[in-house]
Amino acid sequence: MSSIKENLTHINESLPPNVTLVAVTKTKPITDILEAYHAGQRDFGENKIQEMTQKWESLPKDIKWHMIGHIQRNKVKYMASYVSLVHGVDSLRLLKEINKQAKLNDRTIPCLLQVHIAEEDTKFGFNGTELMDLISSRQLDALANVKVVGLMGMATFTEDTQQIRKEFKHLKGILERVKLSYPQIMELSMGMSGDYAIAIAEGSTMIRLGSSIFGTRN
Ligand SMILES: *Cc1c(COP(=O)(O)O)cnc(C)c1O
Repeated sequence: MSSIKENLTHINESLPPNVTLVAVTKTKPITDILEAYHAGQRDFGENKIQEMTQKWESLPKDIKWHMIGHIQRNKVKYMASYVSLVHGVDSLRLLKEINKQAKLNDRTIPCLLQVHIAEEDTKFGFNGTELMDLISSRQLDALANVKVVGLMGMATFTEDTQQIRKEFKHLKGILERVKLSYPQIMELSMGMSGDYAIAIAEGSTMIRLGSSIFGTRN
């Protein structure tokens, strides 16, 4: 088995310079995170606020923490002081809570709006119509302490690469429409270990990789 450092080196060699690699460390121990950190990795992603906060407390403070999972509004307060980017914003109510907690911490929190692009209905996010309604309503303008900088999506979990490509293309198309109203919304968080090459080809600027760096999770 290759080391975390070797995996990171190998992945980084294939990444275009405009693509940010978020190393997904959910369920993985501090020692694994430190190994990646010492290899130069600074962006890390977790899907549970409690686990991310415990790791944030015990790790170097120049790490950028990405919340990539589904978020309960009552837990936003635990990450509001330090989170770098919230990927999974799937409702205006959640965005308002992030805005409130950011304000209490005297900061602005960068966020991505999650768009439902997969066939499965288990995945969270706005659908295209809901998102365009939110954009054209200009309700984002009232939220001074959040900065929506992009969109996030997850493709269907399938071997069918045509299907995956189609879903990523769809998300990229939505981003282009959103940009007409908000040019600062330009990040596209799409791509995981199994599909990141397709995601990059379709315009991803941020990939979230766990198992291809740290090995399979239990
Ligand atoms: C776990 C997770 C990932 C990483 O998955 P891998 O297949 O291990 O790369 C990416 N995005 C989200 C939202 C996740 O929950």
